[in-house]
Amino acid sequence: MTVKLYDKDAYLTNCKAKVLSCTSAENHSFLVVLDQTVFFPEEGGQTPDKGTINGLEVIDVQIKDDVITHTVKADGEAVAFREGDTVSCELNWDHRFSNMQQHTGEHIISGIVYKRFGYDNVGFHLSDSIVTMDYNGPISAEDLSKIEEEANRYIFEGRVITTGYPSKEELDALNYRSKKELSGSIRIVEIKDVDICACCAPHVKNTTEVGLLKILDATTYKGGIRISILCGMRALYHYRECLNRCISISQLTSRPQEDIVSAVEQQKEVQGQLQQQIFSLQQTLLKKEADLVNPKEEDVLLFTENTDTNIIRYQINALTLSHPGYCAIFNKNEAGYNFIVGSKEKDCNELASILRDKFHAKCGGKSNMIQGSLSASSEDIKSIFP
Ligand SMILES: [Zn+2]
Repeated sequence: MTVKLYDKDAYLTNCKAKVLSCTSAENHSFLVVLDQTVFFPEEGGQTPDKGTINGLEVIDVQIKDDVITHTVKADGEAVAFREGDTVSCELNWDHRFSNMQQHTGEHIISGIVYKRFGYDNVGFHLSDSIVTMDYNGPISAEDLSKIEEEANRYIFEGRVITTGYPSKEELDALNYRSKKELSGSIRIVEIKDVDICACCAPHVKNTTEVGLLKILDATTYKGGIRISILCGMRALYHYRECLNRCISISQLTSRPQEDIVSAVEQQKEVQGQLQQQIFSLQQTLLKKEADLVNPKEEDVLLFTENTDTNIIRYQINALTLSHPGYCAIFNKNEAGYNFIVGSKEKDCNELASILRDKFHAKCGGKSNMIQGSLSASSEDIKSIFP
């Protein structure tokens, strides 16, 4: 059993420990078991602590049957540590403290959700990039805003957070939240008048240290809701990024920040109108080209550029009414040409074979119409249409 120093004191950033075992593992790493540790392992949906042991980077920490195994990176070392060695454990405190803030934020939200709706926290995930909690019931956007405000009020009020192992009698009298059926001694984390929960992880000792809590997103999940939050510096960094995006959009649209949504909406509307105009101009242009073709011609071959496929197909259908042979339109794009060929009387699949043989065209369709793409010059394409 490894002595969990973080259990008693979440603010302990380093310790000396005795090496109980050290075995080599893959990719120049070693699995290290110590008599005691400051490193919180991966547990309860939370990713493990980071830091160093005697200067070697700790890349993973796992717990099994109360034995904590640290994975350290030791490039080029034959042996990382020897059994009986005394080593120095140094925690990456910024990382740990951020995890303590996020985790405590989760307790505050879960306590409020439990009190207001009676929902259980049925899932939790805390990594370096996300913090999500799942509840077994729906919550409206309006209620989420109220929960967020209540959570931040508790943070500003500086509620004391205590941890301990109550006796069985004390536990029986306690209404505490728990994700699973627990046995043995149960660690209880209490945020005064906000939440009481069974939990093994490190938390801050006063809600003020959470700094700020922001709900980012909520989605329906397994009939309930998944909420993602950020606390402390993570919330500040996120706010900074959002503000920088607002400033950029404000500069790009030459409008004050409070007007950027309507500015983007207007631009989207203008873009839609322009696309309509381009569509209609392309249609007129292609029709004019088609009108210039001698009505007595059996086959028709036209070239165009960056024209909408629907316009081309419409024009092919119109051409086939007065020209019984192949009616083809080749549309130039960055890669070469895409094309549609239609015919009332000729078999377009025969032309498809020729286009495949001569130009490695990718095409398919039916005898009355084929569609495809190829890479060739307009002169080469013209040469196969007599
Ligand atoms: Zn906890």
